[in-house]
Amino acid sequence: MSIADNLNRIKNQLEKGVELVAVSKTKPIANIEEAYQAGQLIFGENRPQELQQKAETLPKDIEWHMIGHLQSNKVKYIAPYVSLIHSIYKLSTLEEVNKRAKQNNRTIRVLLQMHIAEEESKFGLTRQKLENFLASPSLKELENIKIVGMMGMATFTDDKKKVKSEFDTLKTIFDQTKENYFKGNTDFKILSMGMSGDFKIAMDSGSNMVRIGSDIFGKRENH
Ligand SMILES: *Cc1c(COP(=O)(O)O)cnc(C)c1O
Repeated sequence: MSIADNLNRIKNQLEKGVELVAVSKTKPIANIEEAYQAGQLIFGENRPQELQQKAETLPKDIEWHMIGHLQSNKVKYIAPYVSLIHSIYKLSTLEEVNKRAKQNNRTIRVLLQMHIAEEESKFGLTRQKLENFLASPSLKELENIKIVGMMGMATFTDDKKKVKSEFDTLKTIFDQTKENYFKGNTDFKILSMGMSGDFKIAMDSGSNMVRIGSDIFGKRENH
């Protein structure tokens, strides 16, 4: 199966209104070009310098998404290029994104990453921390960022019921957050959940953005 075939197979499984982020982390430029030729314009990376290099090399109409853990000292590498950051869960990181966006004369869109999985190793905000985060007065001063939704990862397990219930939880938090903090704000609408192994379950729970890597590009070496 070619990358183009894989892309087509996946697109046929996407529900209406669901956007596909092709996760190209660790994969070579040639693989991304192949997907681009097949019409894919949104790509996800999880290493800032890798995103920077690829963005500088590849066509300018590609939308680059940062999907992995982001350290503040690396925001500068992606600030000129990134279209959406999926992985914000600390105010200090968001302040740095705002600062770098301003330096680049742009507004950067971000998602709040929620911790919904059982594994401690996964990053993100708990419900309580989300409340504190959204209540912080300094949030309003960040004029060069736009919070446009939420992202979450389910536990890595074969237990589909568990995965479904975690995605359902995130959908509930998303709806409540929209109602309580972003009412009337039409920008807050992205719910990024679902990867190769669980994107169908995620769509059943109301995801409108899926992040798919190995089903498109094949297995990765180590990540
Ligand atoms: C790697 C990664 C993906 C894609 O995972 P696959 O299982 O290869 O589809 C999605 N989201 C995040 C946050 C990732 O780090």
